[in-house]
Amino acid sequence: MEYLNEVLDKLKAKNVNEPEFLQASYEVLTSLKPVIEKHPEFKKLALLERLTEPERLISFRVPWVDDNGQVQVNRGFRVQFNGAIGPYKGGLRFHPSVNQSIMKFLAFEQCFKNALTGLPIGGGKGGSDFNPKGKSDMEIMRFCQSFMSELYKHIGQDVDVPAGDIGVGGREIGYLFGQYRRLKNAYEAGVLTGKGLEYGGSLARTEATGYGLVYFMREMLKADGKDLKGKTVIISGSGNVAIYACEKATQYGAKVVAMSDSNGCIYDAEGIKLDVIKQIKEVERGRIKDYAQRVPGSVYTESNGEERPIWKIKADIALPCATQNEINLEDAKNLVANGVFAVGEGANMPTNLEAIEYFLSKGVLLAPAKAANAGGVATSALEMSQNSMRYSWTFEEVDAKLDNIMSNIFKACQKSAEEYGLGKNYVAGANIAAFDKLCKAMLAQGII
Ligand code: NDP
Repeated sequence: MEYLNEVLDKLKAKNVNEPEFLQASYEVLTSLKPVIEKHPEFKKLALLERLTEPERLISFRVPWVDDNGQVQVNRGFRVQFNGAIGPYKGGLRFHPSVNQSIMKFLAFEQCFKNALTGLPIGGGKGGSDFNPKGKSDMEIMRFCQSFMSELYKHIGQDVDVPAGDIGVGGREIGYLFGQYRRLKNAYEAGVLTGKGLEYGGSLARTEATGYGLVYFMREMLKADGKDLKGKTVIISGSGNVAIYACEKATQYGAKVVAMSDSNGCIYDAEGIKLDVIKQIKEVERGRIKDYAQRVPGSVYTESNGEERPIWKIKADIALPCATQNEINLEDAKNLVANGVFAVGEGANMPTNLEAIEYFLSKGVLLAPAKAANAGGVATSALEMSQNSMRYSWTFEEVDAKLDNIMSNIFKACQKSAEEYGLGKNYVAGANIAAFDKLCKAMLAQGII
């Protein structure tokens, strides 16, 4: 495919130091091959070049004062990748690994994910290399206030609407919203999502990404004549996505036997006691190894940073819910050898390219992140709707809408995969379905 190869070469040359962004764009573009072949006019319109170039990328200094009176400086980002479908929308990540490549890959993925939700939201992402671990509440607040003192110039409820991601939860969104309100002297509730229930948040937003992942998994298994009941599940991470994926999978009768954090993983053959995890992670902000001290019979295995012991545990279903590239080829081989027949990506791009190919070649059902974890952003968009109406839906109403959205996303992935003769390749199915919507919106708006 001459045009596709040309675009991939140009991308490589232009983004030499951005491996994550190149990985995400390569994965999407190569899977669009059959669509691009059908549309030779895309070349003259430079559609793929436009699709892979962010509309705007903002980078800024974030100075703040720590508890010892020492001034610290971090780098802040906001990438407004594609606004053809609606205001830019996507989370903020606070993690020391954050850099331009990671921001661009996340923003690029977000454009496709948001298109799949069927809701009017464009794609963006932001964050900082700030490390929230070990910081006091006041340090977190001062950092958030400084971050927002620049970010507020670039966002707005009809412009760009950030939310949480790794390292950004309810506490951080509260501090960010407070500062935005002071700076704007206006109550624009829809400027951030993931807010507290007392000031414009939506019921079920906290649960949405994890629940949505399991709703998608339920549909994918159903299409294969299977279900979650009685299945053994392993879940990486123990943050927002992991916790609520565990809760919903357990409600459907699955047994979650392992969870992790960046230091290691715990195994509990009896099934993870989620109340203990919630206490450690949501209340104490502690480490997962504390679980093994509190629950007799459970085992903790430390990770050496390179290897992830969680993927060596025997299971039927794996839900990677921590971070990007946490499953490589070796992990994928271990998973398949240990009986895993379905993988649901809760994290963004958790499976590297070789591992994706391996899973697909072995007939593993793979629920791709941009479809399977779209429940979070979809519920964020429902939060925006409620803010516009100045009204709140009940938990059951939001959860039912989420369930419906996830079922529709699965159907869209399945339909596109079938249309192009790709069988159960939902990775390509998701990319094609999202691309279809995104490129129609872009083409209708002229050369933008
Ligand atoms: P949290 O910060 O709540 O939790 C992240 C979890 O992953 C923690 O257990 C953390 O461990 C672990 N983790 C993070 N970085 C690494 C790393 N480099 N290596 C190993 N473990 C790591 O984040 P979320 O649960 O919100 O996000 C998890 C993933 O889901 C991310 O990829 C995010 O982009 C994606 N996502 C989140 C959505 C949301 O609504 N929150 C929506 C859609 C996608 P530790 O505490 O030790 O760092």
